[in-house]
Amino acid sequence: MKKYLQKLICMICIISMVSLLFSSCSRRPILYQSMDTAMGTIISQTIYASADEKSAQGIMQEMMSCIDELEQKHLSWRLETSEIYKVNANAGEEQGTEISDLLRDALSQCLKVYAASDGAFDFTVGSVGRLWNIDTWANTSYTDEQITFVPPTDEELAAAMEYVGGDRCALDGESVALPEGMQLDLGAVGKGIALDELRKLLQQQEEISGGVISVGGSILTCGSKPDGSNWNVGIVNPFDTSTNLGTLSLSGDWCVSTSGDYERYVEVDGVRFHHILDPHTGKPANSNVKSVTIICSVENIPNHAGLFSDALSTACFVLGVEEGLKLAEEFGAEALFVDGQGKIFMTDGMEQYFYLSNEAK
Ligand code: ADP
Ligand code: MG
Repeated sequence: MKKYLQKLICMICIISMVSLLFSSCSRRPILYQSMDTAMGTIISQTIYASADEKSAQGIMQEMMSCIDELEQKHLSWRLETSEIYKVNANAGEEQGTEISDLLRDALSQCLKVYAASDGAFDFTVGSVGRLWNIDTWANTSYTDEQITFVPPTDEELAAAMEYVGGDRCALDGESVALPEGMQLDLGAVGKGIALDELRKLLQQQEEISGGVISVGGSILTCGSKPDGSNWNVGIVNPFDTSTNLGTLSLSGDWCVSTSGDYERYVEVDGVRFHHILDPHTGKPANSNVKSVTIICSVENIPNHAGLFSDALSTACFVLGVEEGLKLAEEFGAEALFVDGQGKIFMTDGMEQYFYLSNEAK
């Protein structure tokens, strides 16, 4: 009887070891990828999940719905369904517009970057942006005969500039009020805010051990790869956007955002008008920056790494290399600039993450 019991225990042990082995095998994360569009841009997702195809697809679909909801309910100035649309429509009304916690938090972070950058980042540039009609620009070079694009006159710009100035956006506990004519435009931070929301969602998914999500080139890295290696994020060469200037090698949770004069522009007879405006002149920023990449670690900026990397990339583009480097450091972010001559400038901290590609050497 004793022998029989010993055998039984032994068998149970073997069976449980084998099933443990199998279950840990099936829990090894699998790579899933998807590509879709939202926020008027391409969203690509790469996730490592210990889940089957169906539930991994479900998670990635949830991510897409999160971005769509952000755009439709909160951030778009074009869609009547959004809070920003309502805030803009109520400009001039003393009472202001009641807003969600999400939007109030986003605006109060934007105000910090507005103040620290002396208005180089200004989320109230809406009136001027519309005058330039940035939305309609396709990235093409035109000759005089082909295009009807006419830059706004100085008088038109001066009139629209009357309505720009983040310090006149009155944000209180529950609502926001704009002076008449002012129009909010969160185009410079929308993708970053999306990254922050997506990261919260990813964190709730126990089955996901890591991933990289790109919202139109603003990138979130999260968690780790099964083999423990770093995430590699390419930085576009602003002089030849089909190639990479280099790679960022990042471990864990980061947000990466780039602002460049190649992202949205119109070129007429060799003169490039791009989509990043200097809020002090109302014209495309002219700071001799071709592109600037900002990285923020989630460890340093837990809830707003995406918003800050996005706002700071725009601010730094407007400020130029010298002032921009200082601003990035003030926020505990790392920055990499490429100037008009192709020269690279970085914060000291960026050097450990950036690897120049062989072609660019
Ligand atoms: P992208 O959206 O291509 O990544 P940015 O993040 O730099 O580029 O944002 C540019 C957009 O932000 C513009 O299309 C416009 O809507 C808005 N914008 C332009 N200039 C400024 C500025 N100085 N401050 C805040 N928003 C801006
Ligand atoms: Mg930006």
